[in-house]
Amino acid sequence: TLPFSLFVKAVEQAPVAISITDKKANILYINQAFTDVTGYNAAEILGKNESELSDKSTPRQIYYDLWHTISRKQVWHGQLVNRQKMGQRYLADLIIAPMFDDRGAISHYIGMHRDVTQAH
Ligand code: FAD
Repeated sequence: TLPFSLFVKAVEQAPVAISITDKKANILYINQAFTDVTGYNAAEILGKNESELSDKSTPRQIYYDLWHTISRKQVWHGQLVNRQKMGQRYLADLIIAPMFDDRGAISHYIGMHRDVTQAH
């Protein structure tokens, strides 16, 4: 079997921005690619809400759809307009999935996103 440390490294080094949050989207973990994409390091963003990344120009209906989907234990995939620490806007292609405890209840959420601004 693979050593546990290898799973940790896989997440740390994955070439996609990964964050793990509590059920209210407060950020508990970010990987290196998250820092590369957003400009925020762990000390700056841990404990803050994912809404910190929002450019506030995405229609509210999209956030409603996002929460409606993930709180029903489904995976949400969509695009949001985000803002880096230094203010630069970018288009985020994002997958958000619930994580489950041993009883099957939602314990956390995992978010994975890429900057797809160039693709448009
Ligand atoms: P909010 O007040 O946070 O929410 C807007 C609407 O969302 C509310 O009216 C409600 O309908 C719904 N909502 C919010 N919180 C909850 C909740 N706990 N349960 C049920 N419904 C709720 N947003 C981004 O803009 N960019 C990102 O990259 C991003 N990544 C995310 C990653 C993860 C893993 C998760 C879980 C969420 C992410 N979000 C992201 C969503 C973010 O948490 C905010 O909901 C969103 O940015 C809107 O923020 P707001 O302050 O404008 O409004």
